[in-house]
Amino acid sequence: MSPFLPFKCNLETFIQDLQNLIQHNNQGIKTLLDKKNKTYTNFVKPLEIMEEKLEEFFTPLSHLNSVNNSKQTQDIYTQALPIITQYSTQLSQNLDIYKAYKEIALNEANTLTSEQQRVLELNIQNFELSGAHLDEKTKTRLQEINLKKSELANQFSQNLLDATNAYEYIITNEKDIEGLPQSEIEAAKFEDHGVTKYRFTLQMPSYIAYMTYGKNRKIREELYKAYVSRAPQNEKIIDELLALRHEMAQLLGFTNYAEYSLASKMAPNTQSVLSFLDDLLENSLSQAHDELHTLQKIAPYPLQSYDTAYYSELLKQEQYNIDEEEYRPYFEQQNVLQGMFTFLEKLFQIKFQKVTLKLWNEKASAYDIYENNKLKARIYFDLEARESKRGGAWMHNWQSHSIDDNGIEKLASAFVVCNFAPSSNTQPSLLRHDDVVTLFHEMGHAIHHLLSDVKESEVSGVNGVEWDAVEFPSQFLENFAYEPSVLKIFAKHIDTQEILSNDMIDKLVKSKNFLSALGIIRQLEFSLFDFKLHLKPYKGDEVQKLLDTIREKTALIKPPSYNKFQNGFAHIFAGGYAAGYYSYKWAEVLSADTFYAVVDEGIFNAPTAQRYLNIILHKGGSQSMQELFIELMNREPNTQQLLRLNGIS
Ligand SMILES: [Zn+2]
Repeated sequence: MSPFLPFKCNLETFIQDLQNLIQHNNQGIKTLLDKKNKTYTNFVKPLEIMEEKLEEFFTPLSHLNSVNNSKQTQDIYTQALPIITQYSTQLSQNLDIYKAYKEIALNEANTLTSEQQRVLELNIQNFELSGAHLDEKTKTRLQEINLKKSELANQFSQNLLDATNAYEYIITNEKDIEGLPQSEIEAAKFEDHGVTKYRFTLQMPSYIAYMTYGKNRKIREELYKAYVSRAPQNEKIIDELLALRHEMAQLLGFTNYAEYSLASKMAPNTQSVLSFLDDLLENSLSQAHDELHTLQKIAPYPLQSYDTAYYSELLKQEQYNIDEEEYRPYFEQQNVLQGMFTFLEKLFQIKFQKVTLKLWNEKASAYDIYENNKLKARIYFDLEARESKRGGAWMHNWQSHSIDDNGIEKLASAFVVCNFAPSSNTQPSLLRHDDVVTLFHEMGHAIHHLLSDVKESEVSGVNGVEWDAVEFPSQFLENFAYEPSVLKIFAKHIDTQEILSNDMIDKLVKSKNFLSALGIIRQLEFSLFDFKLHLKPYKGDEVQKLLDTIREKTALIKPPSYNKFQNGFAHIFAGGYAAGYYSYKWAEVLSADTFYAVVDEGIFNAPTAQRYLNIILHKGGSQSMQELFIELMNREPNTQQLLRLNGIS
């Protein structure tokens, strides 16, 4: 029998099947809770397996809804979501389960494997971070706070959206749109009583287009001013949100919200995050000054915030312009995919083998992965854009490696989905270099899940990996898409068979690193502001003052006083990044550090690559990434290699 589930999803019976499964689980949970002597084997494991089965049942639907979206998948998905949410909410609030976990963790402290302890630890932590274990009065207050927080976050987004949509700038003079790409001009163009005009808005492609290519400085300033002063009413929401977050953190036993945020992350403590950010900043500043100086040289006036995108583009055109089209013939999709396999086979001594299966689309394909000649995992690719597919690229894990309650090994599977140029009978799919990077990135996530040796599904592969460490394996792999010895495996011109030259590879790297220090300090400004803002309850003017203090260092061009960037910082006020924005850079540091260890040892003979497989990939979420990283490198992460990766000396 195949260790992999066949890909199927019966849409007609899905909701009924889901309800049956949940009813079965609820009954099962009741039976488990009635057990007298609860142990890991008779309580935790069966519960874990029930959860896993539900997840395995649900994943094909969410996958189909993303890659073969139709009215029917949407309807069923919309019906299924509240059923699943209700079930998991009940589960996460079931104190009897929490008590059982605590008891088992205590009773079996000496006999459980470290993987089993991690499962208990993470489950107990989940309960405690939601306050499920606290007294009724505190719990009621926490519920109020949560409700209020989500209302405020919603309001924050709504205000931002309204302000974004309310603004437009109409250009009537053709001179003012000179230099913009034709596609942007077409998008902005409209007829008004027989006169051709151009509309620019604060929506993303439109705003960026004018700021990057628009020659008229007055218009750039207008647009910029409108953009950075959106939604002034969000100032009050920020105050309320910060107060509620602080109160919540304290009710849960933390000093501040930053500490609460770190409880479920890899970063050991607030000080480690702050010194990491400061360290990167100190080391990037001098090059950032140089970069700004170069930029200033080509501008006829002192640069302001609304000039930088425009002059950056000019400088880029002059110095590092890359014609993506010139690269495409070197990156035929199947060549790239097979080349990536060859690279991974050499790096980790694994094997990919195509399997012929009937899948959801004729363009989708499946491969089995072998490690030491033993079947290890299955991966599905669906790489080409089509109308019924959601945009972007992602990895979606399906089955997880584990040992079931009968001692039988279960193998992992996952989907890699991208939106590359479609192929046809007459046209191959030719990728941009950016697409190659994307494929390597998603593959990094996929093998993190697939090569797991962990026996407990809840902490196997990407399951249980801390939020600030999730992008480490993906960024690690993506870095190889710029390495000559890797690119030369597959970057072969489709007509001439010529291998991509060192010159062309060099241009890719230079273009990636163009004004990189300025980019880094901008990210650091956001990260420092976000993190420091959650160290104590800032309110009113204090928020702006904090930002100003940070900007004294990070903002090489002082933004005008009407700049109220914070009122549009949706990542942290309306998204999941509060006291977590640092994660972007954090994971980049881990990946750059490991990447250069492998490169410096000689990619295909690198002991670090083997250790990366054995420690990071095999162990998945079964230990904190902080421990795994130190085991891998025999030291703490070092920020220097990220600077090197960005061409900063
Ligand atoms: Zn990613």
